[in-house]
Amino acid sequence: MLTGAQYLESLNDGRVNYISGHSVDDIEREPLLREAANWVARVYDHFYSPDPDAVNPMVQPPRSADELREHVPLMGQVDFITSTTYQSIMTLLTAAAQVNRSYPELGRRIYEYVDDAKRRDIRIVECITDGKGNRKLPPSKQPDPDAYTRIVERRDDGIVVRGAKLHITGACLAHELFVMPTKNMKPGEEEYALACAIPVNSPGVKMVSTTYAPREEDDRHFPFTRHEQMPDTFVILDDVFVPNERIFLDGQVEFSALFAHSLGLWERTGGVALMAIEADTLVGLAQLIAEANGLERQEHIKEKVSELVIYATLIRAGLEAAITHSRATEDGFVFPDELYTNAAKYHGAHQYNEMVRNLHDIAGGAVLTAPTIADIENEEIGPLLLKYMQGSATVTAEERIRLFHAIRDLTADGFGGWHLVTNVQSGGGLYAQRIVTRKHYDMENAKALARRAAGLEAEVTA
Ligand SMILES: Cc1cc2nc3c(=O)[nH]c(=O)nc-3n(C[C@H](O)[C@H](O)[C@H](O)COP(=O)(O)OP(=O)(O)OC[C@H]3O[C@@H](n4cnc5c(N)ncnc54)[C@H](O)[C@@H]3O)c2cc1C
Repeated sequence: MLTGAQYLESLNDGRVNYISGHSVDDIEREPLLREAANWVARVYDHFYSPDPDAVNPMVQPPRSADELREHVPLMGQVDFITSTTYQSIMTLLTAAAQVNRSYPELGRRIYEYVDDAKRRDIRIVECITDGKGNRKLPPSKQPDPDAYTRIVERRDDGIVVRGAKLHITGACLAHELFVMPTKNMKPGEEEYALACAIPVNSPGVKMVSTTYAPREEDDRHFPFTRHEQMPDTFVILDDVFVPNERIFLDGQVEFSALFAHSLGLWERTGGVALMAIEADTLVGLAQLIAEANGLERQEHIKEKVSELVIYATLIRAGLEAAITHSRATEDGFVFPDELYTNAAKYHGAHQYNEMVRNLHDIAGGAVLTAPTIADIENEEIGPLLLKYMQGSATVTAEERIRLFHAIRDLTADGFGGWHLVTNVQSGGGLYAQRIVTRKHYDMENAKALARRAAGLEAEVTA
């Protein structure tokens, strides 16, 4: 396994990174990326074992609902690319069982890649979303054939890939790109039915990142994102060679949607695990700021906190149900239930804005205007700021100010905005969660109950 220091060293591998218009030679010296890399490094250290046979326990596939129950909460606690590594490996294993039946050679490559990735203790990111050009048109009808990532050349020893994968969380800090089609491909679109693994430092890979990392030199009034932040990366695949051993799908259109569907499930499971923690954090912040303002016993405040509590509890309930009703692949590898995962993810994302509104309503305008730590440390102005920021006597002015900083950092600043959009779009967007939920819901039973209610049928199953 790698230590955090070895991980940071591994990033000096000739990868082509850009941020804010400039190229990045040394990630550890780049203010907009280094804290994100340090977060990943801390998680490496957390899991490190010197045993030469050790692998990260997160990437061991669960074999029972109980093992899944141990894994899933970790997805919400580790850095984002340790989480995407877990999701990628689980996706590959879920898909391998099906691919293997029709194409044993592709199945073998997937199993061997997974073993190798676990042994090397690498970080993998999920590359699904293409540029997509005109959304109305399929890949083969786009004016630019590269709008969807495709194979531009087949050789005896591999393929050459061209295209772009957008919004890829943490790609600039990972080791490998797990590339797969963003949608189902039809016969005639074989060049787009492509899944493979590409090292980020392969010739032709170019990465441009954006980040909500605080820009301030003194970032103490960003108590959360100063330590936990992750860039999103625009990955350009400019004629990248991929050797045969790393190709998992090469024109088999019937399996083109399999990887993205499997990943969708694991990605949303990770999303729900994270949302469960975030929702409880929103509840805690709402209660603490209400107490700091001296308003925790007011009826309308209690009602808003109760709504937050119900929101958080239903996310946890969905996560728990997804684990309890988990299923197993032919290989005996356990995966979460689709219906509960998607319904919980949808509920968490759909209600999020309203819950943040409750928090802002309870907290007051100082969410945006509370003075910084540097301000309150200023000898001349600090004491006056603290005097006027004092709320209830049970909480110091400084603690109250720090709570406002946390609320702003999590919900009303760069990361807050990132969150609003990501909740709607990640995991294929709310639309995708609606489709999958409806697909897995027991509609026949619902119709039977309705028939009974309408007196149309004598007997029903439940
Ligand atoms: C911060 C962030 C991180 C992300 N991380 C990753 C990642 O790590 N890996 C990854 O692969 N992706 C990632 N995504 C991408 C995410 O999955 C996409 O944003 C999402 O699938 C929507 O795609 P899009 O952004 O291209 O929007 P669009 O596809 O343009 O969608 C915009 C709207 O148009 C609708 N629409 C699109 N096409 C059609 C159509 N043909 N017919 C009808 N309606 C249509 C959509 O439903 C949506 O309402 C991330 C996104 C964000 C914001």
